[in-house]
Amino acid sequence: MAEKRATVTCPECGQRETFDKLARARAFIETHRSETGHEATWELHRLSPGVERAGDDAGVCGRPECTTEDSPLYLGDDANVCD
Ligand SMILES: [Zn+2]
Repeated sequence: MAEKRATVTCPECGQRETFDKLARARAFIETHRSETGHEATWELHRLSPGVERAGDDAGVCGRPECTTEDSPLYLGDDANVCD
């Protein structure tokens, strides 16, 4: 059963979407930015313990403004991050 893992919200137009894959949430943010110029943000829900540890190690909170491009959470594909 699919769990919602991330909620993406756009403060500029009020759009709100939930996703069960982080990769989809990321793709939505990137698409929304390219289509509208808006900077949507995401909120992560529950992550696996391994991912939470990876996040702590990398010093990121999962939000785009806090996630460096070097972080595996930022560029890692969904298979690596979630499954
Ligand atoms: Zn927007």
